[in-house]
Parts: sequence; C-alpha cells; structure tokens
Amino acid sequence: MITLKNIVKAYDGKQAGNKAVDGLNLEINKGEFVALLGPSGCGKTTTLMMLAGLLKPTAGEIYFGERLVNHVEPKDRNIGMVFQSYALYPHLTVRDNIAFPLRERKIPKQEAYARAKETSKILQIDHLLDRKPSQLSGGQQQRVAMARALSKNPEILLLDEPMSNLDARLKLDVRDEIRKIQLSLGVTTIIVTHDQEEALAISDRVAILNGGKIQQYAAPHELFNYPINLFVASFLGSPPMNLVDGKLEDKSGDQVVVTDGFEYKLPEDKILDRTYMGKTIKFGIRPHDLVVCDKNDNQAIPMKVDLVEHLGSGKLVKVTDTQGKLETMIRLLTDNEKEIQPGDLIYIKVKANKFHLFDMT
Ligand code: ADP
Ligand code: MG
Repeated sequence: MITLKNIVKAYDGKQAGNKAVDGLNLEINKGEFVALLGPSGCGKTTTLMMLAGLLKPTAGEIYFGERLVNHVEPKDRNIGMVFQSYALYPHLTVRDNIAFPLRERKIPKQEAYARAKETSKILQIDHLLDRKPSQLSGGQQQRVAMARALSKNPEILLLDEPMSNLDARLKLDVRDEIRKIQLSLGVTTIIVTHDQEEALAISDRVAILNGGKIQQYAAPHELFNYPINLFVASFLGSPPMNLVDGKLEDKSGDQVVVTDGFEYKLPEDKILDRTYMGKTIKFGIRPHDLVVCDKNDNQAIPMKVDLVEHLGSGKLVKVTDTQGKLETMIRLLTDNEKEIQPGDLIYIKVKANKFHLFDMT
C-alpha cells in the first residue's frame, strides 16, 4: 500500500509560499489502478515526481507499505515510470532502452537482453528491438517507454499523461492495453491525466485534484453519481452538468427548488432536513438526466429552444425559460429521432431523483 500523508510541495521551499501540492492525503492499495485527474497546473505531475523520488516533499510523509520513503533515492524505490515525452535515449536501440534499467542495476548484459526481449513480447514490439527511437511511430515509442518501465518488474508503475501524444483512435487502443497489462501483472499503477474519459475508463479509483488539493477520491461511478462539491460536479461529465442558482423553499408543505426560470418540487423520498429551507443552492442536473416530456406531465417545465447541436449519436439541445430570466442556457441530450428546432416551445422534466443540490451558503 502507498500512503501519502499531508504532503506539501512548495517549489521555493517555503511552506507559506505558493504550494503546488497543498496537504494531500491519499492511500493506494496493492495492485490498484489509480488516476490523478485534474486541470493543468493542479499538482498532478508534482505528486507523481514525489512518488518517484525525483522531488522531495516540503512537508508530509510518503510510505510504501510501512517504509517511510521520503529520503529514498529513485533507483531504490522499485518503481517504473513513463514520462509524457517518453524520454527514450535516442542513441540507444529499443533493446538497450528497455534493458537500461536492468543494466543500471548491474544485471549482466545477456540476462538484461533476455528480459528486454520478454517484456517487448508483452508489448508486441519484439520485432523492433534493433531500431532506434527515431525510426518508430509515436505509438511504438510509447510502447517502448512502457516496456522500459516494466522491464525490472517494478512494484509500482507511474505514468504521466502517457497517451497525450497519441491520436484519438490509437489512444483508445493503448489505454485498454495498459489496463490489460496492469491487470495481468498486478502492478500498482498511478496514472496522471487531464482526460476524464481516460481516467474514468481504466481506473479502480480516481483522485480529483484542484489547486494542489484532493477534492474527491472514489470509484468512477461514485464520482459521477455523487460529486461531493461543485468543482467535481462541474469538472466531470461531458457535456457538463447544468448548474442553476436557486433557493430551497417550503411551499405549503412541499420542499421546492426555486430558480429564476422554473420551480422543482423535491420528490417525497428526497425530503430534506428543515434547516435547509431558505438556503441558497446550486441545482445541478446532468444533460442526459433531462428529458422532453408531454405538456400535461405534472412535472413539465416549459422551455424555449435556443440552439440544437448535432453530436452524431444524438442532439444537444440548449434551452431557456420562456420568460428569459435564467442567466444560462440549460443543456439536454435527446435522440436523433426527435424533431426539435430553435424557437420551438418544448416541455422537459428531470428524470426521477437525478438531481444534485450544492449548498452555497
Ligand atoms: P499538473 O501536472 O497538474 O499540470 P504540476 O504538478 O506540473 O501540475 O504543477 C503544479 C504547479 O506547480 C503549477 O502551478 C506549476 O506552475 C508549478 N510548478 C511545476 N513545476 C515547477 C518548478 N519546477 N518550479 C516552480 N514551479 C513549478
Ligand atoms: Mg503534468
């Protein structure tokens, strides 16, 4: 198990200064695949570099199992790392690149080459062993970097945006491959990415970072269904969650979300503690949790269609309330069969219980 305890990293060394990582706590189980996900500059790479031992924390502790590793050199940590740029040695062949970490550990050449060959087979690059990195495609270079990271059978695999230089199609194949290899080897893996789809698709758990702090750490479906705060709610999901300003009010016994453009009566099984009444909230609904309904539906909200965008698999419809009082358009997804044009009046409703409330007071 890997444990990060109150990790702080300030590049200027002063704890009071600008912190790239700011009191980060994280536990990663043996064999687990964990993603650090967040916008650019949130501290993902810095965290990974501290795990690798290439950077020292300004404060806090890093444990591999029971062992405190803050001052353990990278070469003594039993980790494999793939950098965003791959960082292959251009003057070395693929064979020598993959064998490099083994040679560094004074493993005899013949044995190192044999193991390089073995690892190259797992990654299906054994036909490329005599080439130099410049003679490889981006996807092949990526595999060589993976093979080099895995050749010494590391306990921990660290991946920093390993797919960011691949085209969209190849990315999908490579990510499945990385997950398959990880599962078959059982190696504890931490991947840094800003690509939410990638993180959610292949990870056991995802840590969402912002401003050097973990916002939420949970399994993908839990992050998506139960975002703990506004940042997580708006960061995850595409198209993003609708977030409408509102207030919780008690209207003759019913609890109602009141916004500038519509009202929403909370279902019986979602009744809140009375102390919430009167609070300012954000009312969150994901675009796929809004459906077009019949005018006579008792939950129908009238909306005017502003824009219709074709996504291929369906349509993204942007609507506003009929009085034009809402500050932002509401996004919803419909199938291609529905005939909807800008200017139309439609009725929409929230799928049963598919809403989120964020306390803004
Ligand atoms: P991410 O990988 O999430 O994009 P980083 O960990 O690279 O973010 O960076 C986190 C913050 O630390 C950023 O504000 C960045 O500008 C800063 N930073 C990164 N590397 C250095 C460095 N070598 N010296 C000073 N500041 C740095
Ligand atoms: Mg980075």
